[in-house]
Amino acid sequence: FAGNERYQKVADLAKGTFGLVVLALDRKTSRQVAIKFIERGQKVTKNVLREIINHKRLNHPHVVRLQEVFLTPYYLAIVMEYAAGSNMFQLVVRKSGLGEAEARWYFQQIIIAVDYCHKVGVANRDIKLENTLLSSPDQPVVKICDFGYSKDENLQSAPGSRVGTPAYLAPEVILTTQGKKYDAKAADVWSCGVMLYIMLTAAYPFSRPEDQRLAPSAKLHAMMQRTLNLDFSIPRQLEVSAQGQDLLRRILVRVPTERLTLQEVMRHPWFCTDLPDGV
Ligand code: ADP
Ligand code: MG
Ligand code: MG
Repeated sequence: FAGNERYQKVADLAKGTFGLVVLALDRKTSRQVAIKFIERGQKVTKNVLREIINHKRLNHPHVVRLQEVFLTPYYLAIVMEYAAGSNMFQLVVRKSGLGEAEARWYFQQIIIAVDYCHKVGVANRDIKLENTLLSSPDQPVVKICDFGYSKDENLQSAPGSRVGTPAYLAPEVILTTQGKKYDAKAADVWSCGVMLYIMLTAAYPFSRPEDQRLAPSAKLHAMMQRTLNLDFSIPRQLEVSAQGQDLLRRILVRVPTERLTLQEVMRHPWFCTDLPDGV
């Protein structure tokens, strides 16, 4: 790369919101790394700095490790540990949803990672399947990534900062445009609940097939309205266990202070159930 001899590009991995993610060889360690290139420019600078500062502090087996950052004339490059499996969105689509035991296995890792982040003072605010990566194609180990919307300090949002991905937004985040602050930790818990719902059902909780006919803005509005009304159901034919349904209903709670905390999620019977062999 321009001005950096250490890394050699191997292949493109994905097109991100602000630039490319590529696979590269780290000549110094002879290991593969993923490099996220973000176009330099005023508009992205603040978010990117937050992403780097927050991400760099995290060192956990279920969080993609940030190795270093370098600049090229046009890009800011974030060098990360390479997660060689697909992201979990692709996995859930490929399998048309996961069984409960498999979903639990991934969910446990994600919750542990998010709890670690909160404990060191970082809320991700963009938790979703696309930002949950599998460490390798044949090992069911996940790592969360993408701290582009993350929040540090007291983990309270500034009023009016509606950040994240629409399908995963907690009610209080949707309503924050009305000038209310919200607890970024509780909002992360909500997003984890949405993620669990999608893993189990292969569908978004607050979208309906009939919404697909709507124009994009009407579709978004319908989804947010359903979120505010807690208008979701778990398809009966999926036979999700009573405990699984109970956990979802205690996470997808409108009032953030009444929602389960991560500690409570970890004590919930569904979460604590032992893994069967071979998962
Ligand atoms: P954006 O902020 O644009 O969403 P992400 O950091 O989420 O950027 O990266 C976009 C995509 O690139 C991810 O969904 C994933 O598929 C891939 N990707 C990102 N980081 C890595 C990594 N460390 N290893 C492998 N793939 C990655
Ligand atoms: Mg992302
Ligand atoms: Mg992002």
